[in-house]
Amino acid sequence: MKIESQRIGKLQRAVLFRTILPMLVMCIVIDAMAMLQSKASLTEELNRSLYATAASVAESYETMYPGDYRLMQLGGGYVSLYKGDYELTEQYDFLDRLREKTGMHISLFFKDARILTTLQDDAGNRYAGSAINAAVSSQMMRKRQPLYYEVEIGTELYYACYIPLWNADNDLVGMVATAITSAEVKSEAAKASLPILVITVLGLLVASFISVRYTSRIVSAIGQIHKFLSGMVAGNLSNVMPDKVLKRKDEIGQTGGEIVRMQNAVRVLVECDPLTTLYNRRYGNAKLKNMQKRSKQTGAPFAIAIGDIDFFKKVNDTYGHDAGDEVLKFVAGELKELMGGRGHAVRWGGEEFLLIFEDMSLISAGAALEEYVDRLHGLSVNYKYQTIRVTMTIGLVEGTPEGDLEEMIKQADERLYYGKEHGRDQLVVTMDGAQPCYRELLVFQQDEKRGNTMITFSEEILDAENPMQLFADIAMREAEQEREERMNTEGEEDSGDTNKGEKTEEKKDE
Ligand code: GH3
Ligand code: MG
Ligand code: MG
Repeated sequence: MKIESQRIGKLQRAVLFRTILPMLVMCIVIDAMAMLQSKASLTEELNRSLYATAASVAESYETMYPGDYRLMQLGGGYVSLYKGDYELTEQYDFLDRLREKTGMHISLFFKDARILTTLQDDAGNRYAGSAINAAVSSQMMRKRQPLYYEVEIGTELYYACYIPLWNADNDLVGMVATAITSAEVKSEAAKASLPILVITVLGLLVASFISVRYTSRIVSAIGQIHKFLSGMVAGNLSNVMPDKVLKRKDEIGQTGGEIVRMQNAVRVLVECDPLTTLYNRRYGNAKLKNMQKRSKQTGAPFAIAIGDIDFFKKVNDTYGHDAGDEVLKFVAGELKELMGGRGHAVRWGGEEFLLIFEDMSLISAGAALEEYVDRLHGLSVNYKYQTIRVTMTIGLVEGTPEGDLEEMIKQADERLYYGKEHGRDQLVVTMDGAQPCYRELLVFQQDEKRGNTMITFSEEILDAENPMQLFADIAMREAEQEREERMNTEGEEDSGDTNKGEKTEEKKDE
């Protein structure tokens, strides 16, 4: 059992491994691609807006303060940045307002120095006067066009756009930079790819759930088939295939159906006689043991009969072996009909049959057999335009819950041979003389039930502790009655004869 569950576990694991793992890999790939894609489009959009803001700063200064950017010596070694006649140094109003509107940091560089900036350290001091990133500076010198860079300012990483500032003589005097923190870029990228991530994870969960449910149903059905087959291998041919398997419309359901058909075929092979399709002797023995066991547990009555076709050798000798086979099949069919709902018919050997009457009293079984013996008189087998009639002799015994089954069969056999020696074509239940008529006894019982009238004779039978003794007594009583009746009629005949004699004498006298 442990091995079985391990094997099933392995199968399910293998199926899930081959379905969920590829789905998981696919989800990871989709998510990664979605993140890259959204990051790329986000960067593109970000570049555009960073550039637009930087360009509008440069343009605004150009419009507001015509003239070149230049440094003015202020004395005391201090210098200040001017645009035309306007001093730009420390003039933050415009840049701070723009920062508020756009959410971007804005810096103005003259040469390599950051003159104006909205960037501040943790203490709130602006990074004014700090130098530009050397790589950005040299790149700008070379390319002289907008640049996009990730730079570290203070302790923070920023994603920034640098555009060149020109004086009238096309002199590159500085740059305008717009920036947002790299953390913001990442969170925006994550936000953009979140819906796809949620959809793929949900999809994976739903697919995994369906997959697990479906595979566990398949595995459970396979497990039930496995259990069924193990039972068959162990010799249990009456296992029932669960409906769960048979109702499936797929290959597993079909396999289940095929296995049930195979079980039936094996059952026929193992339990039945091929010629007559009745149960074979081995299975008959098993059925008998079962019946006796049940009788022990529930007190159910049962009866056993052995029937033998009369003069069957003559049938073979007269009509041929094939005709004999046909007769056997015919008799078997009749026995099957007789035993339908009453118990089981078994081919015990050659032309001998064992009949097991389940949950039936000796009287009921006897009545049914009497009827059967009579019925055979009116039946015949047609074989190749020939009509073959057969009779049967049957020995019947009552089954007992505790007795030895072999002994009961032997007793039925003895009664059968008693019948063979006493004219054949009859049912034998007692070897003490005339057989009681069971059909009549049964009729009495039925009448009693139908008409609600108590009949002493039936009660006597039903209450009898030893029906066999009772039957013997009845038979003796009947024989005695018959003898008395015969003696009476003989007496009457004698007296009649005397009268005749008297008449003759009278005639003589005349
Ligand atoms: P009795 O009334 O005393 O039973 O006489 P019987 O001829 O029926 O009995 P006997 O034992 O002398 O012969 C039985 C015959 O049944 C002999 C055997 O060849 C025949 N027999 C046994 N099995 C088969 C079978 O499967 N097919 C055929 N056709 N004959 C069979
Ligand atoms: Mg025979
Ligand atoms: Mg025989």
